[in-house]
Amino acid sequence: MYKKIFILFIIAFFSCSNFLFAQTTENQISSIEFNNNSLVINTINKISYIESRLKEPDRVIIDLLNCSLQENKFTTSYKSETDEDISIVQEPSNKVRIIISGTASINRKTYLSNNDRTLIIRIARIETEVPDEMKNSEASKEASPPGKFKDITIETEEGETKAIVTASKSVKYDTYILKNPDRFAIDLLNILPPDIPPLKFKPTPYVSGIRIGRAASGVETTRIVFDLAKPDLDCKVDSSLIGNKIEIKFKVNKEKAEVVKKSGIKVVVDPGHGGYDTGASYGGFEEKDVNLVIAEKLKKALEDVGITVFLTRDSDNFLSLAERVEITNSIKPDVFISIHGNALVSSRVIRGVETYYWTSQSYKLAYFIHKSILNHIKIPDHFIRKAQFYVIRHTSVPAILAELGFLSNLDDRKLLTTSTVQDEYAKALTEAILKFLDIEIKSESKKEEKKNDKH
Ligand SMILES: [Zn+2]
Repeated sequence: MYKKIFILFIIAFFSCSNFLFAQTTENQISSIEFNNNSLVINTINKISYIESRLKEPDRVIIDLLNCSLQENKFTTSYKSETDEDISIVQEPSNKVRIIISGTASINRKTYLSNNDRTLIIRIARIETEVPDEMKNSEASKEASPPGKFKDITIETEEGETKAIVTASKSVKYDTYILKNPDRFAIDLLNILPPDIPPLKFKPTPYVSGIRIGRAASGVETTRIVFDLAKPDLDCKVDSSLIGNKIEIKFKVNKEKAEVVKKSGIKVVVDPGHGGYDTGASYGGFEEKDVNLVIAEKLKKALEDVGITVFLTRDSDNFLSLAERVEITNSIKPDVFISIHGNALVSSRVIRGVETYYWTSQSYKLAYFIHKSILNHIKIPDHFIRKAQFYVIRHTSVPAILAELGFLSNLDDRKLLTTSTVQDEYAKALTEAILKFLDIEIKSESKKEEKKNDKH
C-alpha cells in the first residue's frame, strides 16, 4: 500500500515536470565510472536531473532527464563498500535512472561538476541509529489520518541558513534537487498544507525564496520549494529533532569548492572609481560605493565556489586606470571584471544593463555575463557593446566592464542599492564566470589532446 502511494506520487510529480524543469537539449551518457565509492557519470551535453529519496526499501533515485544510455556499452551495476546496490537503467520517455538502494543510514552527496556535464555521486555511511521506539511509532502512523503543517521558521547564522518546519505530527519526507534554476524541494508526506501561506519570507544569503503548497491535487502532501541563492548548495535534512520538527540546513558545498580551488582559478574584480572620483551620483548614492558593495559580494560568492579573488581596491580610495591594469597584468587572472553603475544626465527614463568588451577573447565572457544578469535581474537589455575602455583594452586577459544599471533611473537605482538584488547580481556574475571558465578549460585541454596526437 505504502509503495503504491509513492509510485502514484512520482507520476503526479512528473506530470507537472514541464512547469518545474526547463527543456534541455538531447543528452547521452559518454562514460560511467565507479571508484572510491564515487559514481562518476559523464555526458555529452548539460545534465538536467532530479533526485528523490524513497522509503521501504530505502533508496535514492536520480533521473537524468532527456538522456539516453547505450546499456551494452557500459557496466551498469555496482556495489558500494557499504553494501549499497547501484544500478543504471534506460527508462522510457528518454530518461536514465540511477538507483541506489541500501540501509537507511546512507549519506550521499550528488553534485554536478563545473561544466554541468559530469555528475558525481558520493556514497558514504554515517552511523546513525534510529531508536526502536521511533521506528515503531512511525510504522503505526502509516495508516493514520493526515497531520497539518503548522509553522516554518528561518534562521541564518554565519555560513548557513536553517529552516525549521513544524507539523502537527512526526513527518516522513522525500527530497528533490532541481536545477536551472537551483531549487531544493521537500515533500512532507501525509501532512496537509496550510490554508493561508505563513509569514512573509525575508531572503537570506542562501535561500532567496520559499513556496509552500500541496504537492499535487488529491495528494495529502505538503511541498516546500526553496529557491537557492547560490549555485550548488549543500542541502541537508535532519529529522531527529525533538517534537514534530524537521530541520533543513543550506550551506556551501565545500567539497566542490575544494576541487575548484585546486585548479587555481583567479579572478580580478575591479570596483569602478573611488576616493575623490565618486562616479555617478544620484538620489543620495555615489557610484563608487555601490560598485564596492557589489564587488565585495561578488568576491564572497566567487570564494564560496573555490575561486581566488583579488579586488583592485577594497576601500574608498582613488586608484588610476593604469594602476588597475598594472595590478591585473601582474596577477594574470583567468578573468577581469570591472563593476560600474551607469548614468545619463539628459534622461532619467533610460535604464538597463550594458556589458562592454574590447578584445575578441573577451566577447564570450561578455556574452555569458550579460545573459546571466538578464536571467537573474528584472532589468531591460541595453546590449553587449564593444568599446575601448582603458581597463578592458590594456588588460591581457579576458576582460569586461559591466554597467549593471543606471543610477540616474529610479527603478535601476533601487535594484543597484537593494542588498538582496546586489546578492543576485553577485550570483549572476558567479554563474557566468563559472560557465565561461569551463569553456576556456575545455578548449585548452582539446589543444593539449591535439598536441599529444602528433607524438
Ligand atoms: Zn563608472
